[in-house]
Amino acid sequence: MDTGQVRPLDFTDIVTNLLTVGIVVVDRRFSVVMWNRFMELNSNVRSEEVLGKNLFEVFPELNKNWLEKKIRSCIVLKTASHSSWQQRPYLFRFKASTMMAQDNEFMYQNATIFPVRESSGQVEGACIAIQDVTELAEAKRLLDLSLDQALDLEESSQRDSLTGVYNRRYFDEQITQEILTSRRHNRPLALAMIDIDHFKSINDKYGHAGGDAVLRTFAAKLRDMLRGSDSVCRYGGEEFALILPHISLENAGALMERLRKSVENSPVEIENGEIVQVRMSVGVASLRDGMTPGSFVKIVDDLLYESKRAGRNRVTCFTGAR
Ligand code: GH3
Ligand code: MG
Ligand code: MG
Repeated sequence: MDTGQVRPLDFTDIVTNLLTVGIVVVDRRFSVVMWNRFMELNSNVRSEEVLGKNLFEVFPELNKNWLEKKIRSCIVLKTASHSSWQQRPYLFRFKASTMMAQDNEFMYQNATIFPVRESSGQVEGACIAIQDVTELAEAKRLLDLSLDQALDLEESSQRDSLTGVYNRRYFDEQITQEILTSRRHNRPLALAMIDIDHFKSINDKYGHAGGDAVLRTFAAKLRDMLRGSDSVCRYGGEEFALILPHISLENAGALMERLRKSVENSPVEIENGEIVQVRMSVGVASLRDGMTPGSFVKIVDDLLYESKRAGRNRVTCFTGAR
């Protein structure tokens, strides 16, 4: 007779037959009390082979120290805990079943461990619920990969392929940024333009490949002698632009003179063992009120031209008298 009372339902069959989530219940001594279809299918261990047995004896590959501690604290503290695939890729080493997992042979898993009560309300065991997140992990891996590629692409679009220093495109953007920053923080900013002297005759004498080798060594020297906050850019051909933040004109001039001397005193050895003498001319100025990126570059370029006209192998500093 229907008394109208709601009778408690038994979910055992539903849980047992669940194919999308792995359910393992163990008692206080880690004996397996429930092992559902998901676990059977992925482990190839049938429930009759595992029920009543110690979980860690049937699966010696489990991280016993860690999982035992987790289960114990779940039972004692009566609280659930979560294990994410990002910290711990899996609890049970199962084969991945998804099409996407070409190079991972194992299944990524999220797991929740929660206390299981008897009808008296007493906590008598713990349930480990396992979710297959291989597709999620694989999608994340592909996303990270394409982000890395996008960053690499961005980086390489800013670089000169011969020398590895920044290219002209980067220079044009960076000089505008540095001018804004310098004005905002009221900090000095210097710009230097460098051109290798008689580079055409280096090419003529040592060949184009010899000229390329000189450019590479020259650019490496510029990078070595400058700070990380400075930008070394290949402005074109054998001309380089240096953006030098936080430096007074006087110090920038002295730095350029040191650089000029160092280049003059360190001839470049090219692949065939020949030694190439390299010299350079420089123009250098610091940012003044009213200058635009275009006029700043023009002033420095004019100073460089002055160094060339005065006989090359020298540094010409802005004096303000122009
Ligand atoms: P100046 O002292 O007046 O600067 O004389 P220069 O010979 O250095 O100047 P010019 O502008 O006449 O010649 C520059 C040469 O640089 C011409 C060009 O063929 C060469 N050049 C430009 N880019 C490259 C490059 O990537 N590799 C090589 N090997 N040569 C280059
Ligand atoms: Mg030149
Ligand atoms: Mg030139």
